[in-house]
Amino acid sequence: MAVWPIKQRTIIHFQAPDYWYNRGLSIVKLFPGAQVSDGGPGDLTVNVTETGPGELTIVVRRGTKIWEETADASQDSFSRALFRAISDCNGQPLSPWGILTGVRPGKLAATLLAATGPGPAMTELEQHYLVDRQKAELVLETVANGLPLLAGKGLSIYVSVPFCPSRCHYCSFAAYPRAAWEHLLKQYLATAAGELDQVLKFCRQHQVSVNSIYVGGGTPTVLEGSELEQLLQPAAQADCEFTVEAGRPDTVNRDKLAVLSELGVNRISINCQFPDDATLAAIGRTHTVADFDAALELAQASGIPVINSDFVVGLPGQHLQGFCRALNDLAERGVQNITIHSLAVKRGAQISSQYLDSHQAAAIANSGYKTLREAGYRPYYLYRQTDIAANQENVGFGLPGTYCYYNIASILESEPVIGVGAGAVSKLVGDDGIATLNNPRDPGVYLQRNQQLVERKLAWLSRRFC
Ligand code: SF4
Repeated sequence: MAVWPIKQRTIIHFQAPDYWYNRGLSIVKLFPGAQVSDGGPGDLTVNVTETGPGELTIVVRRGTKIWEETADASQDSFSRALFRAISDCNGQPLSPWGILTGVRPGKLAATLLAATGPGPAMTELEQHYLVDRQKAELVLETVANGLPLLAGKGLSIYVSVPFCPSRCHYCSFAAYPRAAWEHLLKQYLATAAGELDQVLKFCRQHQVSVNSIYVGGGTPTVLEGSELEQLLQPAAQADCEFTVEAGRPDTVNRDKLAVLSELGVNRISINCQFPDDATLAAIGRTHTVADFDAALELAQASGIPVINSDFVVGLPGQHLQGFCRALNDLAERGVQNITIHSLAVKRGAQISSQYLDSHQAAAIANSGYKTLREAGYRPYYLYRQTDIAANQENVGFGLPGTYCYYNIASILESEPVIGVGAGAVSKLVGDDGIATLNNPRDPGVYLQRNQQLVERKLAWLSRRFC
């Protein structure tokens, strides 16, 4: 089984004093197909040495060719010099996001915009962080569109339904085939509904505004209508943005949509990925393009006002014209939000060599952005993942006035997000920083530990809001 997206591995022999090794590794790993070793022969070698007080020298060798840079002994100076030396060896920049590894570009852009304004923020992104101009413009525009919508107080809630009809080949989420957990499903729904109820009761009692509720997974609509009602009843008619992911179109029907609409759900996500039956079969989806079309029609008739659809770039059989045609088609059919994901394949995912070359995928993504802009959509949230194709990004586009609050707040980590259900992560954003609290991914373990975790969350909420 080939590993996507790199068809060829490059063994990099990386040597540096411990402190600098740890700081430089994430840059070295940006090299296409990098497999880093600290001993034995390599396709290229990277040596970092301390050559004077506060001075580092970086030497990159490939065959008989040598590239050399010096840096002062500060983190960013070192990262820039290392990035430049290995980029020169590569013949092009290692990443369009420069030295931004392990950093949320949107959060950094928001900080820079607030501190200095757009012009200096652009300069800082390009010169200090070596971000490509197009990407710097993209992230600044994204933040400028999304940031003004944030409430500045209160919290959001994420509800996890970690079950799917089947497992997609590239999936790395906490998602289990429903059939494997059927025996505990009733108990799971009762426990997660109880957890949701306790968080919402706290908010009502202490006048904490709930800005958004997002039900994700997994595929929440793998549940039947009555099961969705049981899980989400505590949030019924919530006076806030209320989103449910119906990721797999084959899980959507009129009954479930009626239940969601009745509960007050006002956004739904029905994911297309790429409208081609051969592609969908190749990635392990158990639905067809016709299923997607039917689900979209049902959702539009259900009265749920805003619909999002996710596309994934890099899938087998995908091509640029077909991708842009599909985006235009959804725009013409009135889908208000479209998110373009660059495929990220993590260790453990099953993947075949049919997936696109990462640079083809980047070209398709960029054309997709252009197509959506021309159709009136604007980017309003952006995030990156490790192992993402060609070091690209995921971008949410929306028609103005239909942006998803939850996506903006959670990506910018601007307010607490309380996670409910197995695999849900609570981001406890406080005045003194951000702590995370993970609910166990395994539904069985979640059921055993639930009450203890709820108590920890309520205790944190009391400290934060009372
Ligand atoms: S639908 Fe999403 S969560 Fe479910 S298996 Fe596929 S990629 Fe994973």
